[in-house]
Amino acid sequence: MITEKNSKINGLTLNGFNKEDIGDDHLFTSLDTPMKPNAFEMSNSDKKERISILFSEIMDVLGLDLTDDSLQGTPDRVAKMYVEEIFSGLDPENKPKVTLFDNKYQYNQMLVEKNITFYSNCEHHFVPIIGKAHIAYKSSGKVIGLSKLNRIVQYYAKRPQVQERLTNQIANELKTVLETEDVAVIIDAKHLCVSSRGVQDDTSTTVTTYYGGEFSNASKILELQNYINN
Ligand SMILES: [Zn+2]
Repeated sequence: MITEKNSKINGLTLNGFNKEDIGDDHLFTSLDTPMKPNAFEMSNSDKKERISILFSEIMDVLGLDLTDDSLQGTPDRVAKMYVEEIFSGLDPENKPKVTLFDNKYQYNQMLVEKNITFYSNCEHHFVPIIGKAHIAYKSSGKVIGLSKLNRIVQYYAKRPQVQERLTNQIANELKTVLETEDVAVIIDAKHLCVSSRGVQDDTSTTVTTYYGGEFSNASKILELQNYINN
């Protein structure tokens, strides 16, 4: 489910939209991050070198003086930041390794980890998405270290993203590692491409949800929302 607070929601059908509309209306085409089959043939150091050259061209075309002390190091910094930090979640090598523990305490109610702050980037404009993720699951007999929930969120956030896909990717990963359908993911995020450009709406945030298994039950959803809002 997708809702947008204080603002109108976009439809999800792609029929009749041109490429520009898809970007500006933040529509998306696939639940998997669209990747080239040879995405990891190039080494990370080669990627950084290439991005640095290309980014300095962008700066040059914009008319910036790359011999200026303040700008000189920018292409290298951007390349390093893209590969090692903000887009590091594209590389499956960086996926958090999850160890499960036996549920010794026989705790079989819902567990909620709320207010997980994340930073992502909109794949249509490459500007930040800043938000909070709330995660809930019911143990299938195994439990996960709490910090791993945060790490899973960060891993999928560190890609060019759309919020709907981020929500589903986190939910799918949790279902796989926790071996249960009983997972819920709620994301409330601010898109800088909406607030700092385009319609320049500074107050709206977008909420996306995934309710799986027992969490698709209306009373469970209410219970969960109650924990998150308090
Ligand atoms: Zn955008």
